[in-house]
Amino acid sequence: MIQIPKGCKDVLPEDAGRWQDVECTARDVAKRYGFQEMRTPTFEHTELFARGVGDTSDIVTKEMYTFLDKGGRSVTLRPEGTAGVARAFLEHGLAGGTMPFKAYYLISAFRYERPQAGRLREFHQFGAELYGSESPEADAEVIALAARFLKELQLSDVTLELNSIGCPECRKEYAAALKAYFEPHLAKMCPDCRVRYEKNPLRMLDCKVPECKEICKGAPRVLDHLCPDCRAHFAAVQRLLDAACIDYVVNPYIVRGLDYYSRTVFEFTSGALGAQNTVLAGGRYDTLLGQLGGKPVPAVGFAAGLERLILIMDAIGVPAVERCPDCIVMGLDDTSRMEAFRVAEKLREAGFIAECDLLGRSLKAQMKYADKRLARYAVILGEEELSRGAAQVKHLGRSTSEEVPLEDLISYIRTGKLPEKE
Ligand code: ATP
Ligand code: MG
Repeated sequence: MIQIPKGCKDVLPEDAGRWQDVECTARDVAKRYGFQEMRTPTFEHTELFARGVGDTSDIVTKEMYTFLDKGGRSVTLRPEGTAGVARAFLEHGLAGGTMPFKAYYLISAFRYERPQAGRLREFHQFGAELYGSESPEADAEVIALAARFLKELQLSDVTLELNSIGCPECRKEYAAALKAYFEPHLAKMCPDCRVRYEKNPLRMLDCKVPECKEICKGAPRVLDHLCPDCRAHFAAVQRLLDAACIDYVVNPYIVRGLDYYSRTVFEFTSGALGAQNTVLAGGRYDTLLGQLGGKPVPAVGFAAGLERLILIMDAIGVPAVERCPDCIVMGLDDTSRMEAFRVAEKLREAGFIAECDLLGRSLKAQMKYADKRLARYAVILGEEELSRGAAQVKHLGRSTSEEVPLEDLISYIRTGKLPEKE
């Protein structure tokens, strides 16, 4: 038997409702903030991610699914959504359109990682991007969207952790301070961190190796190295969040895994997850569009990992929206089965979830099926009822039943009672 590739997951019909709830909430919340959907290809030229995500990031150095296509071009399955949106924005000249530009995406992403709970090789993200505004209001709006998304999923026990990593100017000074701090510890740190030390010392703060994490605890704080402009920007973001009653804690050691961030960075973490506790992360990336060859356009965004959100929702028992059938319509002989088919179509036309038997089963077996599917009503089309133009409608939760004229069936299913006759 052929098995699913390592690090991938099937979503079975019984679990699909949860996915649809999360995706509907994402679309609905994004819409309320005026963000429109953007769809970009599943693979891009490798160069895009190397330039966009940053060639010292874990993603680019270790995790990309890169291959040569039959034409000998190097392409990569997208490891994240931001670079593709930025590429499309530039390619379609959207910088010349209405600003700010606000887009969201629901995508699958691919990273060659060691699979574990909440860490897959194909996973899914909901992300939002806001381009064209440097103002702290843009950061706060994106964070508010993220917070509302998580709130509407009924995720309790998530914390918003906030930091500013400053602009490239303040980071020069900070990188020097970090190097001075890490130098005496370098021998005890992992090989990756030794490379990061040379190339991008900030990245050392994002190391997952326990020994390195311990050493990071004493590292200088980026917040002590911000220039006056970055400091004012960060203070304004916090004031806006306060005004909107969005709770947060400042965590001066958040740097984020991608290279393109500047100023605000944030993560929503959950106590209900183990090691992989970040469910949503993002920040400002004012240099990315310039790095991709466009004119520099300030930008801020986030991405949420849907598998991790769903793990929490399952763990804390958030109920999925019910998608049980309203009616199972049952016939017994050829005539009534034909009638069942017709009645089921009428019910679907009226917007109800209706099913009929497809396996030639007995009434008893059909009733069993209706119970299993947690249907609300069994609509039974017996010979006698049909001769009166009616159906026997059984309320499965209450085990009550009554005869309902077919012309009143839709209103009966809608209201649970027969219409009053004049
Ligand atoms: P981590 O530190 O957990 O590796 P990251 O910094 O690489 O995360 P981002 O690139 O910021 O993650 O992606 C945003 C979100 O996507 C993460 O917060 C997480 O919820 C989710 N995510 C990232 N990688 C994976 C993965 N391999 N499997 C499942 N979800 C993931
Ligand atoms: Mg990662």
